[in-house]
Amino acid sequence: MSNNTSSRLGRATRLLHAGAPDLRGGAGPVNVPVVRTSTVRFESSAAYADHHHRRAAGERLATYGRHGLDTHRALEDAVTALEGGHRAFLTPSGLSAITLVLVALLSPGDHALVADSVYSPVRRVDDTLLQRLGITLEYFSPSQHDLASKIRPNTKLVYLESPSSLLYEVLDLPALSAVARAHGIPVATDNTWGAGWFHQPLALGANISIHAATKYISGHSDVMQGIVVTDSPELSAKIATAHEALGLTVGADDAYLALRGLRTLPVRLAQHQRHATQVAEWLLDHPQVSRVFYPALPSDPGHALWKRDFSGANGLVSFAFDDGADAGAGERFIDALRFFGIGASWGGYESLALVASPDRLREHSFWTSTLPVVRLHIGLEDPQDLIGDLAQAFARVAQSVELAAA
Ligand SMILES: *Cc1c(COP(=O)(O)O)cnc(C)c1O
Repeated sequence: MSNNTSSRLGRATRLLHAGAPDLRGGAGPVNVPVVRTSTVRFESSAAYADHHHRRAAGERLATYGRHGLDTHRALEDAVTALEGGHRAFLTPSGLSAITLVLVALLSPGDHALVADSVYSPVRRVDDTLLQRLGITLEYFSPSQHDLASKIRPNTKLVYLESPSSLLYEVLDLPALSAVARAHGIPVATDNTWGAGWFHQPLALGANISIHAATKYISGHSDVMQGIVVTDSPELSAKIATAHEALGLTVGADDAYLALRGLRTLPVRLAQHQRHATQVAEWLLDHPQVSRVFYPALPSDPGHALWKRDFSGANGLVSFAFDDGADAGAGERFIDALRFFGIGASWGGYESLALVASPDRLREHSFWTSTLPVVRLHIGLEDPQDLIGDLAQAFARVAQSVELAAA
């Protein structure tokens, strides 16, 4: 596929063909092989020198095992094509992808504006690493504060996540990016929720898109991985320098699994959305529920922005109990579930449930209630079974409230 024809193709076609092995010898496998290596061999000293020279000049070329070979290149190519970016960088986890971006773009004395509803471990990176380096993160409410008024002369980055973790606050990415761009400040956004399929942040004004490929891209709860996608050679050079300095690398087996997951991303996401929509609509009518968080629901406050900037919704649905629930209702509820694993993460084929920690929810300024909130990841099980499971768990919570009142 030449670049000219590929830009006119549908996104699913590009997703399936990007990074596929060529058939130069007349035949070849469908999938790129897993190329495991700790080092790279050269046919001569001259070739060794040439490769190092070209890599130093910015060419995407491996001169050592840490840089990854064919498997890594194929995954990077596929994600770059999916996001319409300039270059992709693989990291050992989603969190390391976030830290890479922060460390690559911020220096001592710099200030960054961060949406207050971001994935909360970002604050730990701030507290334990960035503050020690003399870097200041300031949290702002992307739906309440005026971004322009918060920008300082030393603001070097705007960091966002849309929709946000736990409650899926949808941000106006084009508007926020326009403000940052007017001040010459790059925008990085965590695109894990949209998984590179439902949302194209680089086309909407962001400069860097970050993924926890651990979630939907891998899709089977068997890989930890992060990906950073840049929109320009200038940002790629900055990220490449920090990526190299930190010695970040991923194993070829994990790169392979992420690429394998990527090929079926659209069909898995479509099914997650169908199931999650059924569950979300059922929750809306439930008497023990006061609020359902799912941007695809017309009742969700982010629905209009979601409809404008996203092409679908994933399997994450959160809900708040109604006023009758006590502080322990969330824990009793998830303990009563049979088909939902209790645990962090999401994006695999299976259903999960977690009580959203009140400490984490307090960070999200657009939700000020103290009602318990449960986050569900709706997997690929039969939705009727999941709804039946949720119904009996609600009944158990109601029963315990009645017992306490008796
Ligand atoms: C899970 C997650 C991360 C971190 O990814 P890991 O691979 O678990 O380190 C980052 N951002 C978001 C939005 C996530 O959900």
